[in-house]
Amino acid sequence: MKTTYGITIIGAGPAGLFAALELVKLGVKDIVILEKGKSIDKRDKKETLCGVGGSGTFSDGKLHFSLTLSQERLLDFVDREEAQNLLNYVEKAFLDFGVTAPATPASFEKAEHLVKRCERYNIKLYTRKCRHVGSDALPGVIKEISNSLFQSGVTIIPECEVFKVVKDKKGEFKIETSSGEFSSKIILMAPGRVGTKWLQDMAKILGIAYEYQKVEIGVRYEFPASVMEEQTKIMYEGIYSVQTPTFDDTVRTLCPCPNGFVAIEDYGGYVCVNGHSNSGNESPNSNFALVQEVVLTEPVENTTDYAISIAKLATTLGGGKPLIQRLSDLMAGRRSTAERIAKSLIIPTLKDATPGDISMALPYRIVKNLLETIEILDKVLPGINAGSNLLYAPEIKLRGSRIKTNKQLETQCVGLFVAGDGAGVSGNIVGAAATGVIAARGILKSL
Ligand SMILES: Cc1cc2nc3c(=O)[nH]c(=O)nc-3n(C[C@H](O)[C@H](O)[C@H](O)COP(=O)(O)OP(=O)(O)OC[C@H]3O[C@@H](n4cnc5c(N)ncnc54)[C@H](O)[C@@H]3O)c2cc1C
Repeated sequence: MKTTYGITIIGAGPAGLFAALELVKLGVKDIVILEKGKSIDKRDKKETLCGVGGSGTFSDGKLHFSLTLSQERLLDFVDREEAQNLLNYVEKAFLDFGVTAPATPASFEKAEHLVKRCERYNIKLYTRKCRHVGSDALPGVIKEISNSLFQSGVTIIPECEVFKVVKDKKGEFKIETSSGEFSSKIILMAPGRVGTKWLQDMAKILGIAYEYQKVEIGVRYEFPASVMEEQTKIMYEGIYSVQTPTFDDTVRTLCPCPNGFVAIEDYGGYVCVNGHSNSGNESPNSNFALVQEVVLTEPVENTTDYAISIAKLATTLGGGKPLIQRLSDLMAGRRSTAERIAKSLIIPTLKDATPGDISMALPYRIVKNLLETIEILDKVLPGINAGSNLLYAPEIKLRGSRIKTNKQLETQCVGLFVAGDGAGVSGNIVGAAATGVIAARGILKSL
């Protein structure tokens, strides 16, 4: 087996795949992608985080093309005009690879009406251009991308976990993996959120600086689809943000899944929850993440460890599964039981969750913030505060530590580039893909 390549990409998520596509387009050859999960054909739907396509593969497949929220991180590398050009460029590529979902909101004017209604209650509603591919359709798009790379001569090696990377005296990278040692002059690390800790460890070994970023901690909230129906008709996705009365913290809804399902993310030592929906809107329920931003300052800044310790506590209480609780039980200060959940009007879409008490797992401040936010949101989403609604914990949005780079995404370690969520430079599929493109263009310059 060939083990020396000009460029090695670690991680076959959107960041790694789009970096490879761009390198091919720029005429660069001799590229390998090392991916610890399985190929797209062999990957099981339960393998949410790892495998060719990355953590987005069986996701809801909402693709965001507006320069708002996490997409604004691109402004650290390019100006506003170039950032929007990049988002359009990624959109065109997705359309070329078979995305047919229409762009929403169909009318920004109608969306503006919803924004104004929220303003009256001190709620910020973000609207952005989105295409909802659907969890059932996205794997087909990934397969197209994977085939295209194969035909262009890019080698993708699945089930190949990278353990360690070191730089030898000649300036070449030695890459220790589960499939033996590889070497390369240029490396792009794009290991996603699942690789956040690994990337921190590699940064320490290679002398690269990084800083911790905010994390978001909370629950996945499930309710009857009718509650969000009006919003969904106008724009598939809206993000509501509230400053909470007691603590003045920011709590946001994220990743809404109209007529969707709650899903488990298995991180090995702990589990978290997320959501997804198919293109056919099959569920009677909708869900979104309801999370509080957490920033830690001196002397304890490690938000990753803090969030993971909460996730582990929740996993322990759930006996290895996520916790589920009715809103009425949480408000009354009692745990949910299987009997109480059965009395709920809503049938949970995630069966593999343990009825319990979320307030035993999440800190008081977070629980208080979530309850206050649900009450406020009820003014614009009537029914969101109904006692039958269900909370699943923990939902954690880890942000990779922000790895220090130049504008081309090259680190202090010459020849080593980073991209995607794991490096803290993106927060979703399109953002990760766009940073892959930036890194690829940077690699070409360095060659
Ligand atoms: C359930 C779920 C739903 C989501 N829904 C959406 C959505 O609707 N829209 C949206 O925009 N985003 C969504 N996201 C987020 C989105 O998937 C990520 O933002 C995006 O995939 C990040 O891309 P990435 O390339 O940086 O990392 P990833 O997609 O995480 O890919 C990183 C890859 O690197 C591999 N890897 C890690 N460490 C190593 C190693 N040591 N050796 C070899 N390989 C390694 C991993 O196996 C993985 O395949 C969702 C995520 C989840 C989990």
